[in-house]
Amino acid sequence: MNPWVLSYEGFDPASEGLREALCTLGNGRFATRGATPDGELRTPGTYVAGCYDRLDSTVAGRTVTNEDLVNLPDWLPVTFAAPGSGWFRPERAELLDYRQELDMRQGILHRSLRWRDEAGRVTLVRQRRLVSMADPRLAALETTFTAESWSGPLRVRATLDGRVTNSGVARYRELRGDHLTGHDTGDRDGLAWLTATTRSSRITVALACRTDSPVREVIREGDRITTHHVLDLARGEPATLTKTVALVTSRDYAVHDARSAAIRAVCGAPRFDELLARHVAAWERLWRDARLEVADPELAQLVHLHIFHLLQTLSPHTADLDVGVPARGLHGEAYRGHVFWDELFVLPWLNLRFPEISLGLLRYRWRRLPEARAAARDAGYDGAMFPWQSGSDGREETQTLHLNPASGRWLPDSSHLQRHIGLAIAYNVWQYYLATGFMPPWCAELLIDIARFFASLAVLDPASGRYEIRGVMGPDEYHERYPGASSPGLANNAYTNIMTVWLLSRARDTLDLLPEPTASEQERTRWDDITRRMRVDFHDDVISQFTGYPDLLELDWTRYRGVRRLDRALEADGDDVNRYKAAKQADTLMLCYLLTSDELMEILHRLGHPATPDLIPRMIGYYLDRTSHGSTLSAVVHAWILSRTDRTRSWQYFAEALISDINDIQHGTTAEGIHLGAMAGTLDLLQRCYLGLELHPDGLHLNPLLPDRLGVLSMPIRYRGHQLFIDADHRQARINGVESLTFSSEPFARRQGETIMTSTGDLGRRITYHRVRLGLTVDQVAERADMSPGYLQYLEERPGTPTAETMYRLAGALETTVDDLLGGGVDRPPGRGRAKAAPTLESMDPDECLKLIEPGGIGRVAFNGSHGPTVLPVNYRLHHGFIVFRTAPGGPMDQDLRTGLEGVEIKIGFEVDRIDDAQREGWSVLIQGPAHHISPDELSEVTESDVTPWAGGERQLYIRIVPHQITGRRIHHL
Ligand code: BGC
Repeated sequence: MNPWVLSYEGFDPASEGLREALCTLGNGRFATRGATPDGELRTPGTYVAGCYDRLDSTVAGRTVTNEDLVNLPDWLPVTFAAPGSGWFRPERAELLDYRQELDMRQGILHRSLRWRDEAGRVTLVRQRRLVSMADPRLAALETTFTAESWSGPLRVRATLDGRVTNSGVARYRELRGDHLTGHDTGDRDGLAWLTATTRSSRITVALACRTDSPVREVIREGDRITTHHVLDLARGEPATLTKTVALVTSRDYAVHDARSAAIRAVCGAPRFDELLARHVAAWERLWRDARLEVADPELAQLVHLHIFHLLQTLSPHTADLDVGVPARGLHGEAYRGHVFWDELFVLPWLNLRFPEISLGLLRYRWRRLPEARAAARDAGYDGAMFPWQSGSDGREETQTLHLNPASGRWLPDSSHLQRHIGLAIAYNVWQYYLATGFMPPWCAELLIDIARFFASLAVLDPASGRYEIRGVMGPDEYHERYPGASSPGLANNAYTNIMTVWLLSRARDTLDLLPEPTASEQERTRWDDITRRMRVDFHDDVISQFTGYPDLLELDWTRYRGVRRLDRALEADGDDVNRYKAAKQADTLMLCYLLTSDELMEILHRLGHPATPDLIPRMIGYYLDRTSHGSTLSAVVHAWILSRTDRTRSWQYFAEALISDINDIQHGTTAEGIHLGAMAGTLDLLQRCYLGLELHPDGLHLNPLLPDRLGVLSMPIRYRGHQLFIDADHRQARINGVESLTFSSEPFARRQGETIMTSTGDLGRRITYHRVRLGLTVDQVAERADMSPGYLQYLEERPGTPTAETMYRLAGALETTVDDLLGGGVDRPPGRGRAKAAPTLESMDPDECLKLIEPGGIGRVAFNGSHGPTVLPVNYRLHHGFIVFRTAPGGPMDQDLRTGLEGVEIKIGFEVDRIDDAQREGWSVLIQGPAHHISPDELSEVTESDVTPWAGGERQLYIRIVPHQITGRRIHHL
């Protein structure tokens, strides 16, 4: 099993939808599903982040408006025909072999097949496909044909197809999906192009395509364009055709018009090999930061898959775009490309590796603050009310009617009442601050405006003296309203109320970070009051999901065993899930996901509830028994909250979250798009939960409890500007290779201000150099330095910022100095540090002096030059007791060292020293004696000394110093 490759054998039309979603290629700006270029049963999908369109449809006698992430023209189609055969279609062809492989390390989709046509001829077809991570406008499909048993012309047909609609999700098919209009096509100098415009957002989309084979014929239809090519195949000889495509929209930056920009981009695109090389290099850079290694190859494959799809949806290219986190990636049409609260599961992982992407995603929210403020105002509240589902401009995009596929009925949808979306955004702002130490003023504005909204949502009930929040829904979407109630909404959803208390406390902390007060004393006082008097209900010794929850009925779980979507099943049975104590996913338990047990206890105590930590396991037991896991997020949350109390079950949920997409555990939903929140959530689980990586205002704490099966877990992170490497197994955890805690000890905290060493960037190379010089393996050096081999490997491969302590250990292990490893001496004189206490200066005898200089290296020659006393560095060797160095014949040194008299030689000085900056100790050796020019007949004697001058050039003159006097001194400490 290759943990970097996802492989599929054979062509299986029934599972194509799933393969297409999982083999999607993207670069954070756009993505294309892994549909075949030539099939009939395919669901092609190309989506540009943020490219939405709005259409009205009539369903169940009502007009509903939906905004969709638009499916854009299909750039993939390529098919071929042997003489006398029809166009190749995998569904109809006789396939001798068929294999598809997604290379996640390099971002390449490979496909290889052998086809026997009607005439019995066998042709091998290999394809490589990429969506460039280096140039986010480009994509390419290379096809190599080998006629195995024949020779002759092969016809190839390449199309840009604008006849696509949003029709990838069966339950939306009654809704309109014909978002593209005004198609146009054309060709020029062998290039073909196609443009179309979205109906209401009026975004022009342009595709331009270059094929590296002469065009025999162009067929222009209004909404698609096809070029025909002929490849003359000689038996056994591969022939290649590459389709390179540029995709530009009128929403892009630095564009005059989409069509000309696409044509210019494709004209300037490099050949496939170079395009591929640049793309692979871009992925390599990404993986360096995104690396998360686990020992087990199967687990590693899933981790890679999740990171890969996360980065294909949200890459450094996304940071600069005005887009949010689409719940289903750019991989399909489920949830219409909308942005929900799923970013809560995504940003914490990005914050510690790609904080610039997180910042871009937060900015998407900030740019929609005016819309959120208007929504709050219209609803009678202060601050900013963010929509449950967000798209282009930040208005509420939640559907008002949804189809229950189990009953075929269109039903009212009130899920927009999930006001807790604002809490997720604020939580992410705070997490970003903790990870980076940076709270941009606009992020503070976002958090404070959300806090204002929740503070105004809380209304004081004079009778109880408690603040209440009414008319909302929690994350559990099964509970929209009280049974039989005419209007939707619930009172005092515990998750919303308690997180509001958390938020108002963070809002006060945020105000303290700002130079100017942006909230009045009166407002602060009210926030403070809410944090002490918010209502939280309890029943059966657990927190109630909402007021009135205890009155609900218990569900007959045996009847609905294994049913994930209880809402649909019960409605189809003429019942209503609102009546039961049954949850789609964690709701009250989300509190244990977002807050530590101490934080939760502190809030409850502040609210006057004398809770003790045993409340948490009680709540987990209670609600877990009543949850159907109808969302893939559910397994992530439950794996998390069980990690410290029931490790076996935690692992089971983790394993379920890991396979939710690859195994399509919801039976058909992955084909409609990956579940990005669950994918990223599993990664965050590894770091923040199992590794116990907690971000606190005073620093980073590690409090790991790794499942035994995980083996070694290692990853680099970026924390407040520092590059750290963490690795751990179930016994110990290390930061930058040094053991930082045992499981029984107190959490380790990297306090701000701890010395971090910075190098010139060559640290890795220097480490490798010394390691190889000593003939040691990575493991051996790691053992000598008492650090983990993983970290040492990491330092050799990329610039790191190890601590001073690590550097001293490493220097010791490599028998060199810290300064040497850091390359710090390159541009500054050595020995700048102050002297150490009690230095000792000691003279050395000639033998010790010669031993020290014996290895050769660089020394300095001192002589009376024509312009005064001169000292110059030379490469030297000790050869048969003499010092030998080389210089240029006729050069200044040659001149200055000649007396002009036969047999009379100038006496010169020669010095070598070694200074250990870090230890403030060192030695110097001085040799004095005559400089003798080696004559041509003596040359053979000294050339074996193998002295090579660093300065390069022709330095054929050898000079020998005959030591007459050898002295030396050493400074060291007692
Ligand atoms: C879940 C939500 C989630 C949405 C998008 C729904 O099924 O209940 O919590 O935000 O999917 O992923």
